Amino acid sequence: MADPLPAIKDMDEAALQTQFSAWGERPFRLKQLREWLYGEHFALGFDEMANLPAALRERLAQTWRAFSLEVLQTLTDPDDGTVKWLCGLADGQTIETVLIRVPGRTTVCISTQVGCAVRCVFCASGRHGLVRNLTKAEILDQLVLVSRHLGRRVDNVVVMGMGEPLMNLENLTAALDEAAREDTLNLGARHVTISTSGIVPGIRSLAQTGRCWNLALSLHAVTDEERRLVIPDANRYPLEEIFEACAYHRQMTGRMLTLEYALIAGKNDSDAQLAQLAAIARRMRAKVNLIPCNPAGAALKAPTVAACRRCLQQLLERGVQATLRLSHGKSISAACGQLRQRFLEQPSSDGPNQIDPNQIEGKNT
Ligand code: SAH
Ligand code: SF4
Repeated sequence: MADPLPAIKDMDEAALQTQFSAWGERPFRLKQLREWLYGEHFALGFDEMANLPAALRERLAQTWRAFSLEVLQTLTDPDDGTVKWLCGLADGQTIETVLIRVPGRTTVCISTQVGCAVRCVFCASGRHGLVRNLTKAEILDQLVLVSRHLGRRVDNVVVMGMGEPLMNLENLTAALDEAAREDTLNLGARHVTISTSGIVPGIRSLAQTGRCWNLALSLHAVTDEERRLVIPDANRYPLEEIFEACAYHRQMTGRMLTLEYALIAGKNDSDAQLAQLAAIARRMRAKVNLIPCNPAGAALKAPTVAACRRCLQQLLERGVQATLRLSHGKSISAACGQLRQRFLEQPSSDGPNQIDPNQIEGKNT
């Protein structure tokens, strides 16, 4: 198979300007191109770009690809309207993107890597380790895909899909900077939350970018000892160092920290552990997001819904701002990497048609 053309969204402004002037095109053509790529059309191909001259469209199509994702599956949860896309990349890898709807608000959850090197025990994304970083274009195109689906620009983004975002900070920053432009997706930094498992140098680099993105820390345990059971040693930093880095991020950006805490029955949901979680949240002036652990083949279970509510109550009673996220899109394997995992587990899966939709849409247990 011939190598795919480079992605136009990986080009920086200067490179595009140089190419356009070499072709003798005037600058407004570049503006028109951007409108097609990110404006109300969210074009997937140059052939859609009706007000560009045919010769230019042809040149563009011979030089670049306009869109980097191939939708392999689109699944909609009938209960809550969550939409999940399984997308193929030019090299045959797959990633997931999710649209979460709550009344009055839409949030897109994007991936930053194929696989993940951190390999948290409950996470399907990390099951096979890291395959590769996503490019700027592959990250951006997830936002374009969802914008096209909605018929308008996306309004909130959480970087909580597959991968450890702070291990691909350069491409993520490039993609979010492009998306922040008024003439692209106009996505303000305050509408973006980046979630990390606690990569200390990454948190510090993030703070130093000067961008006011929100930070979420996947804490999941209140001591280093207990955290070892969830996050393997290779990429796990000491909690005190993580807290210092988070405080530095807050100092540099003024943004409030969120602590994510996947509730695992009998492991991190005792009264003493919740009291300690509340103490950490108060010390870090952070809010807490409790997520019942979504079993992905691991021998870990979420507490019952009633027990999860009691955990929430314990935090609230201690004056901590906290929410319980009863999972969205449960029937469509919406937890991080679970759909891709199912895709990989298909016997002799060599393409989208090999997926049995009944298996994917079946209950996520
Ligand atoms: N790598 C980053 C962001 C992606 S994961 C991080 O770990 O923060 C987004 C969130 O989903 C993290 O808090 C992660 O721990 C959580 N998560 C992953 N798999 C899960 C599962 N099976 N059940 C509950 N939470 C899960
Ligand atoms: Fe990676 Fe996050 Fe999954 Fe851990 S939870 S393996 S850091 S994607």
